[in-house]
Amino acid sequence: MRTYLVTGGAGFIGSNYIQYMFRKYDNEIRIINVDKLTYAGNLENLKDVESRDNYTFVKADICDKEAIRKIFKENDIDRVVHFAAESHVDRSIRNPEVFIQTNVLGTAVMLNCAKEAWEKEDGTFQEGKKFLHVSTDEVYGSLEEDGAYFYETTPYDPHSPYSASKASSDFLVKSYIDTYHFPANITNCSNNYGPYQFPEKLIPLIINNALQGKKLPVYGDGKNVRDWLYVDDHAKGIDMVQEHGKLGETYNIGGHNEKQNIEIIHIILETLQEMLPENDPRRELVTTDLITYVEDRKGHDRRYAIAPDKIKAEIGWEPETMFKEGIRKTIAWFFEHEEWMKNVTSGDYQKYYEEMYQN
Ligand code: NAD
Repeated sequence: MRTYLVTGGAGFIGSNYIQYMFRKYDNEIRIINVDKLTYAGNLENLKDVESRDNYTFVKADICDKEAIRKIFKENDIDRVVHFAAESHVDRSIRNPEVFIQTNVLGTAVMLNCAKEAWEKEDGTFQEGKKFLHVSTDEVYGSLEEDGAYFYETTPYDPHSPYSASKASSDFLVKSYIDTYHFPANITNCSNNYGPYQFPEKLIPLIINNALQGKKLPVYGDGKNVRDWLYVDDHAKGIDMVQEHGKLGETYNIGGHNEKQNIEIIHIILETLQEMLPENDPRRELVTTDLITYVEDRKGHDRRYAIAPDKIKAEIGWEPETMFKEGIRKTIAWFFEHEEWMKNVTSGDYQKYYEEMYQN
């Protein structure tokens, strides 16, 4: 039975990944989820797995070397999947320090503790141990022209404190691969969307605001382009890279689904109109009148677009969920989880945590 140490598993992608892994491997794996439970971490995301015997939650900060070292000492960890990070660009513009702390220093702690636990006396690593660092396409900077793409060989050119901190963490992982032949991979993925996404990010923010008849803020001219991937497709890509990727390599993961922000908002509004029942009063609220242009984000990158050619050629991964289908699934999930949305937006989930884990 393989043992996984997942960091940041109470966040958006991490919690979807843990659920994906239990659906796929059921009792063949064990997962230890270490998360500090910042505002973005939510144990409600993991309600469906928390009673499993092969799942353990540890509340810890990845910057706390002793806490991380203890987990490696007490468990024979086979795989690390490192999601934990501060992840929101706007917050990084207002408060960069915590991004450097968690994303850079936290990654250094994870690398050092894994190296210490897995390294043999001759400097090689125990057979079968693997570390996967989850990163972003934002490290590559901004594309201006249509038709240009980010490849694994594209030079790094980060612009926000968030992307700079992720780029730094990627370079740390690369340095461990080059210096120690540390058994790691890096994945750089485009924007994710799906269930459990915190409503500070574009898609859940628009869904949540529209359903309440609140303004839908759009940065600048609304024409910034992002490539969007359904979160389960990302989870599958991470697992495939870890199992079938060549150690030491970086793989780009993307949806081949470029959309302007304003297009995303129109698609969400149309889909809400299609999905809301005829007699639902919210149909009246969900209109383009809610769209409000606001001052552009500082240093706003114009366009991101991933070429996921290498992962397709070497590993056989491809995006599976068409955007319209993914948006329908996401909206259906938000319809069924109104309580979740209320809780994450009111801070009530802290109470849930205390009831669950501190009594
Ligand atoms: P998220 O903000 O939803 O979740 C981050 C999780 O990390 C939270 O559970 C939080 O509590 C935890 N965390 C934060 N600081 C911690 C610390 N010091 N110690 C332990 N846990 C800590 O983020 P997400 O959107 O799920 O992103 C996960 C990873 O994927 C990040 O590394 C991010 O850079 C990367 N990524 C995200 C996207 C995206 O579109 N969301 C795209 C590509 C890559």
